[in-house]
Amino acid sequence: MDYTDLYINGAWHKTPERFDVINPATEEVLASVASAGIADADAALDAAEAAMADWSARTPRARSEVLRKAWELMTARLDHFAHLITLENGKAGADARGEATYAAEFFRWFAEEAVRADGMITQAPASGARIIVQHKPAGLAVLITPWNYPAAMGTRKIAPALAAGCGVIIKPASETPLTMLALMPLLEEAGVPAGLVNVLPSRRTGALVDHMLHDPRVRVVSFTGSTGVGRTLLKSAADQVLKPAMELGGNAPVIVFDDADLDVAIEGTMLAKMRNLGEACTAANRIYVHEAIAPEFTRRLTAAMQALKVGDGTDPSVDVGPLVNAATRDKVAEFVADALAKGAKLECGGVLPEGRGYFYPPTVLSNVPESADCVQDEIFGPVAALQTFSDQDDVITRANNTEYGLVAYVFSGDFKRALQVCERLDYGMVGLNRGLVSDPAAPFGGTKQSGLGREGGHEGMLEFMETQYISASW
Ligand code: NAP
Repeated sequence: MDYTDLYINGAWHKTPERFDVINPATEEVLASVASAGIADADAALDAAEAAMADWSARTPRARSEVLRKAWELMTARLDHFAHLITLENGKAGADARGEATYAAEFFRWFAEEAVRADGMITQAPASGARIIVQHKPAGLAVLITPWNYPAAMGTRKIAPALAAGCGVIIKPASETPLTMLALMPLLEEAGVPAGLVNVLPSRRTGALVDHMLHDPRVRVVSFTGSTGVGRTLLKSAADQVLKPAMELGGNAPVIVFDDADLDVAIEGTMLAKMRNLGEACTAANRIYVHEAIAPEFTRRLTAAMQALKVGDGTDPSVDVGPLVNAATRDKVAEFVADALAKGAKLECGGVLPEGRGYFYPPTVLSNVPESADCVQDEIFGPVAALQTFSDQDDVITRANNTEYGLVAYVFSGDFKRALQVCERLDYGMVGLNRGLVSDPAAPFGGTKQSGLGREGGHEGMLEFMETQYISASW
């Protein structure tokens, strides 16, 4: 691997302490990566502060053109990034290419948004004073990302931060730091000045991030990961009243009505379940099928899951790679054992393969009881857990019965009914007759304990900006 050290102020730094990154398909060590400490965090903050002074003073068009160049360069090297993603995360080639494309698109979208930080001038109704509203860069941002999308969860934060005029320090997940490190030479080539983006992999994560969140120069913490860590970060962020953006866990329901086009419903459910082999906050976690179509739906979904080829994601014929690590694989196996013990029926899969790699087979469970752990918690693996329903109000109540509110999916041929159901679902996003909602141009994010704030869309850049209002007379 070419890039395994800390990236601070546009230069590579070795550290005495290092940690291994493992290929989940082979269980072999891919690379030994530098582990940042407190002094490295201070150096990165100094660099980001200095670089931001110049960057935030550049015109929006100048910032936009650097981001646009980053999109062009990344798009020209999709295969390179997809390969790295597969090596460190395990996901199959098509999934990895999809992620690399999605990741690059954030640079294009925020290149377009950089020049549209609209403000306004109005007149105060009573006093007649002019109300001038404008958006300014919020300050240094600490970005913390998970392992399930090693490229996209980073670019979804870096691109809007740079568009807004902020400098950043990014702490990638310890399982998958290599893709983000490999992106840095590309950003340099695109014209990102030294120090504006710094990457600090670390095995001392909690202390490192906590230190940065208490530095008075930091104004934004943008986190994607589990709800538990999100809560910890919100508490730390409270000390300096930082602007938080929290993209946390999900427990996505899929509701398939008896008037749904079954081809569309199967294709959409497969995408919602198996994109990223289920290791996604948007993954279909609870699949509610109307009882009139449940036997047919179960038969077709099982056939589609059985047709998937499992193996090392570097093999182009493979559809499903390994899970990211042994703990994630074992947790998935526990969810299946628990559901079966509580009365679910195994339609396919469910047996751990022998040999190396953290593989788990595509699995379908039917008749899953509400009490099963996989109904309450994120499965984060290739297990489709099916339940049936007969009453619309009842299924909406069941779908909303969770502390999460990231995304829900609805399949129905009756648009009026479908939209009424969408509005009653307490979720930040709904896929209607679609199994994929992620789009750089759309505001991604959840309600309840799935998070705060939105990434992408027009809202994404505002997460890195402060609104200033000037009351003026002239
Ligand atoms: P995680 O354990 O919360 O880790 C995410 C990041 O937080 C990693 O970089 C991790 O570093 C870091 N971290 C861990 N403990 C920390 C602490 N005390 N202080 C500061 N940072 C800390 O989550 P994960 O297992 O990587 O990812 C899976 C979770 O992410 C799922 O719940 C999934 O739903 C969620 N997710 C949400 C979205 C969304 O947009 N809503 C998208 C993708 C994933 P280390 O790796 O060094 O521990």
